[in-house]
Amino acid sequence: MTVMHSNGDIPHATDVPNCTADLSIEDVKQELYNRHHPSLTFLDIEAHAKTIHKIRTLKQKHNVVMLGHNYMEPLVFGLSAKEEQGDSLGLSMYAANTEAPYLIFNGVPFMAETAKILNPSKTVLVADKTAGCSLADNFGAEDVRELKSLYPGAPVMIYINSYADAKAESDICCTSANAAHIAKTMPGDTLIFVPDIFFAQNLEEELRGEKNIVYPGKDNMARGAVCEVHEKFTLDDLISIRESFEIPKGHAHRKLYAHWECRPDVLKEADFYGSTSQIMKDIAERVAENELERAFVASECELTSNLAQEFPEVQFWTACSVRCSHMARVNLNKITNILEAIDQKADISEFEITLSPEIIDKARAPIERMLEASA
Ligand code: SF4
Repeated sequence: MTVMHSNGDIPHATDVPNCTADLSIEDVKQELYNRHHPSLTFLDIEAHAKTIHKIRTLKQKHNVVMLGHNYMEPLVFGLSAKEEQGDSLGLSMYAANTEAPYLIFNGVPFMAETAKILNPSKTVLVADKTAGCSLADNFGAEDVRELKSLYPGAPVMIYINSYADAKAESDICCTSANAAHIAKTMPGDTLIFVPDIFFAQNLEEELRGEKNIVYPGKDNMARGAVCEVHEKFTLDDLISIRESFEIPKGHAHRKLYAHWECRPDVLKEADFYGSTSQIMKDIAERVAENELERAFVASECELTSNLAQEFPEVQFWTACSVRCSHMARVNLNKITNILEAIDQKADISEFEITLSPEIIDKARAPIERMLEASA
């Protein structure tokens, strides 16, 4: 695992403005330089300014909402305005309320499916429909049905990181931010949680004595999955990161964070664990109190790149080898291809997310139940 650090002496980032009407390529370059992003080099900016200018011009011309997941590389993430950035559920909820005719979801297809389910009249597009996900790809509707037959009568709570067909077979959705809360609202002593096995084990620990969490592989042969990115972090890695970068356990101003999708022993070792949004909130609160000087986040490495821009006061160390190969398939050239196709009124089917009305109806119910339960 290769680990790098950000420069702690960088001025605050400049938000990318929505309006690009009169911006020249030189203006775009200057904006990129003004971001003082620790991961953006002179070469990145000089090589990509022209493409970014084109994307921003076409985005505005066609009134496109461009949603940017936190795991996007900085140049792609920066194409989205602040309110268009976030995690998969936050972005889908934003998408649900937009009037824009086109939504480009810079993430993987299961995320864009949720946006489509919540706003089916809109055209939802992704840069690469072949981009997968080790969680969503390895778990489908048939797997939900098998677990339901093993535990008759037990409700099914499904992680939002899944495809619509699996959601359609489930009772309620959850995110890593609300899973424990949602689980407690479900009837009965036993709850089936799918598909993430590490997440399930972490939830089981969190709810021990309150709810019996059953999941794929726990006393059964059902198929489950893990996030291939968060799986990479081991307890030994975290101990070694603590030693190498002087982040001792319990230090007042140095923190080691881990995402819910990591292994249970990694969560136990972390100073704070949670969803992406919970980790970001904790960092923001500590920064506001001037209480965070150094941090390592056991999650996708571009999340740390984007955090390093948002919180330049903090010295972030990042595992640059822990990159989601699926998310990394989204790039500036592919995004340009979508916008050019829209501009030329060409066929956009290779980018468009389509779901049958039946699946949209069935998959929307568990998402809406989650939104009601977390309100
Ligand atoms: S990081 Fe990649 S593999 Fe992991 S859940 Fe997200 S999209 Fe899937």
